Amino acid sequence: MCIKKWWKKIFVAICLLCLACAVVVPTMVVGNSSTSKVVIDAGHGGLDGGVSSKNGVKESDLVLVLARLVGERLEGAGVKVVYTRKNKGALVGGKFIKKRDMEKRLAIIKRANPSLVVSIHLNSYKDKSRRGMQVFFGVEQSKGAAEHLQEQLNNHFNEPDVGRRFSVLQGDKYILNESPCPALIVECGFLSNPIDEQNLLSDTYRNQLAEVLCSSILSFVGE
Ligand SMILES: [Zn+2]
Repeated sequence: MCIKKWWKKIFVAICLLCLACAVVVPTMVVGNSSTSKVVIDAGHGGLDGGVSSKNGVKESDLVLVLARLVGERLEGAGVKVVYTRKNKGALVGGKFIKKRDMEKRLAIIKRANPSLVVSIHLNSYKDKSRRGMQVFFGVEQSKGAAEHLQEQLNNHFNEPDVGRRFSVLQGDKYILNESPCPALIVECGFLSNPIDEQNLLSDTYRNQLAEVLCSSILSFVGE
């Protein structure tokens, strides 16, 4: 009788232990993998300078500065950041071939397996009065993130500076279409517009922009 009672107690204890493991272990696994990873993609580079202003300011140089500013802030907040490029050089050596450059970027994204890809670019347009920041997405899985970033850019820059809010646009771009996770292109202003150009050359403005992009990314990835 007594031995039977003990077995009962041991059985109950084992069951409770199993239950505790079932609850605690997955929590621990989620905890360990909860550090978000973001790919920050500075557009262009090397022979591909992207668009440029009439003063010769190149998109590839400015987006590299912005990418670093955003990336450093994200890292400071505990996010793992993977950069597609960290210097002025091209991603692929030799003659510039857009397709090879894009494939290399996609390979970096796939290897990193991030929660979000933010590709940073600058715009240019024949109508030099055109200003503002525009977010593009490719497929449905990216629309929510695009709308979130666009909303923040509208609140902090487009509405106060340009006097209008922008809606997200769907773009048929290789990286946006092929990325396994939500991916966005953020056009951070028009190099064809003298005010946008002047702003983008200012350290203060770039830091403000990086701050807004960083906090928008953080709220999307849940850090
Ligand atoms: Zn570009």
